[in-house]
Amino acid sequence: MFPLGQNIRFQKCQWHQDQNQVYYNSDTRVSYCDTCIASDKVNVNELIVSTKYCQEAYDNWKKLLNQSQYLSSEHEQKEKEYGIPWRSAFKVEIRSALSHLKHRLFGRPDIDENEDVFNSLVNLVYNSKQDAESFFLNTQSDMLQTLQESYDLMHNQIIYLKKILKEPEVKKFAEIKQSIFNE
Ligand SMILES: [Zn+2]
Repeated sequence: MFPLGQNIRFQKCQWHQDQNQVYYNSDTRVSYCDTCIASDKVNVNELIVSTKYCQEAYDNWKKLLNQSQYLSSEHEQKEKEYGIPWRSAFKVEIRSALSHLKHRLFGRPDIDENEDVFNSLVNLVYNSKQDAESFFLNTQSDMLQTLQESYDLMHNQIIYLKKILKEPEVKKFAEIKQSIFNE
């Protein structure tokens, strides 16, 4: 289940240095240890087990990376099946998706004319997934949560591309886009 040869580490509680943080409140983004809980000053109903929170967030990143890696081969099949107009329309959409992500994540929307957009998209997801893995291995729930905005941006674009890969009618792309982005 865990990456080979790597162990899960915990952060120390900010109030009780001899204790590990094991619970997390995702609303306040504060972590707590068992001693915190025993002090009765914490509402346990608002807490989740940190390892569980981190595992779920990291699993989402792994799944997203997998989906991004699969786009290229799925596209190879579909472009043969749907033909040249569809291929051109899809190319516009994937370049727009990548440009949008680069703009939101780095403030630089530019894509080179010869850039392999499938590869660039995978690299974007891969880099954040590596960050997520490091936070996961150190049970840094709050750091994993800071990646959530990037995750949502990438996830929406990849879900959109996956959906239009299943849509042979180019004129329906706009409708699909609206259903995902509420534009
Ligand atoms: Zn504590």
